[in-house]
Amino acid sequence: MDSGCARSRSPWPVRSGVLVVGGVPAVGAGGAGGEYGHLPFGDRSVLCLCGARGCWDNEVDGRALARHLGTPPPEDPRAFAYEVLQRAAAGEAEAAAAVREVARALASGIAGLVNAHDPSVVTLGGLAPLIRAAAEEDFDAAYLDGLMSFRRADPIPLRTAIFKKLSTRGDGVHPFRAAVEARDLDAVADLLAEDVVFTSPVAFKPYPGKPITAAILRGVLRVFEDFTYVREIADPGGRDHAVVFTATVNGKLVNGCDFLHLDEDGKIDDFMVMVRPLSGAHALAEAMNAQFDRITREATEAAAHGAT
Ligand SMILES: [Zn+2]
Repeated sequence: MDSGCARSRSPWPVRSGVLVVGGVPAVGAGGAGGEYGHLPFGDRSVLCLCGARGCWDNEVDGRALARHLGTPPPEDPRAFAYEVLQRAAAGEAEAAAAVREVARALASGIAGLVNAHDPSVVTLGGLAPLIRAAAEEDFDAAYLDGLMSFRRADPIPLRTAIFKKLSTRGDGVHPFRAAVEARDLDAVADLLAEDVVFTSPVAFKPYPGKPITAAILRGVLRVFEDFTYVREIADPGGRDHAVVFTATVNGKLVNGCDFLHLDEDGKIDDFMVMVRPLSGAHALAEAMNAQFDRITREATEAAAHGAT
């Protein structure tokens, strides 16, 4: 399942999944197939935007979170979902309970799709990886509970989609980009492999390991202003991504590119950044130098706690 991945002639505004067979999206005779969000995995009393009742979509997004919290339907369900995820992360018990409920609904639906389709991999996109990360125990338990028992010994892996085309808007915002744009550094760190190597645009020596890489990315986002991703180039295998950004540092314009490589689990194991022009690179080097004591301290603390 890949939230929002494929273009289709689907007449309703929610695109919530696609079955990929042999690398090709299976979109059905009329182009509107793969609407997994509109399988009736949900509460039959809830009317979906598509006109059907009980659609799964209504159980797994900001609208579901609002219902569990007893608040009115949000105008922007995705923005509301980010807000609730942040409240849950900050320790609000009701928000955390709502997120767990949604995580279970999402995971048991995914298990149903796995039972139906016997795929080799499930790729989680959009909000799904963030919901799973916020309620991993509930999510994974519901996934296993929903699988036919013969699948449980060796359940097919759930992976996080690192990028989709930046032109895919709506529900299709990628978790890495979403996490960066929301300045959610914990979510960014969750997408890094333990053995990630970070190569900076302004230092010769690469930095090995998740603690230092996460700390550097925190520092980078403290010094960049108006940071925006503008373009993405991906290899057909989906393991290499180049993501072009613009930002300013102390008033100097910077154009740059993140070169990301993904490991077997879909985590970033190689992260190289290049920037231009030279005036921007100098401004960035100067601003990052001023951050480096803090970066080193954060990385050392994270390494000592075995987490970032
Ligand atoms: Zn529907």
